Amino acid sequence: MRILAKLLGRIARSRPQPAPAAVPASTTPHPRRNPPHPANVPGPFYVEDGCCLACGIWEDEAEGLLAWLPDAKLPHCYVARQPATDAEFAQMLTAMEINEVDCIRVHGCRPDWAERLRAAGLGGQIDPPEGPATR
Ligand code: SF4
Repeated sequence: MRILAKLLGRIARSRPQPAPAAVPASTTPHPRRNPPHPANVPGPFYVEDGCCLACGIWEDEAEGLLAWLPDAKLPHCYVARQPATDAEFAQMLTAMEINEVDCIRVHGCRPDWAERLRAAGLGGQIDPPEGPATR
């Protein structure tokens, strides 16, 4: 009996197994963290409040879309202008990609832009349907 069970197990293991379903990590939203900084201009893209490591890494990529808070005791950037064109969206996408703490987020942007963010692996920076974190 034991020999028969072993033989059946060997046959079962030798059959081709279906590949495990791929789970695209980029579509899994991160848990929401901080609410938007109040200095962000209205619109879908925002910088979280209180997350700043003063990376400044966006300065060469998205100047004009992001800016440093003037006269702040601690450095912090904010969204100074929402992207209006595909070229500006590409700048914002780059800033979202290279900043160090995923603190540039988006809620309710154009569906084609959201798709490009997901394709770039930035789906975790898209808010869930209920929107950004609140205070
Ligand atoms: S992207 Fe984030 S960490 Fe970098 S300067 Fe802006 S708020 Fe600070």
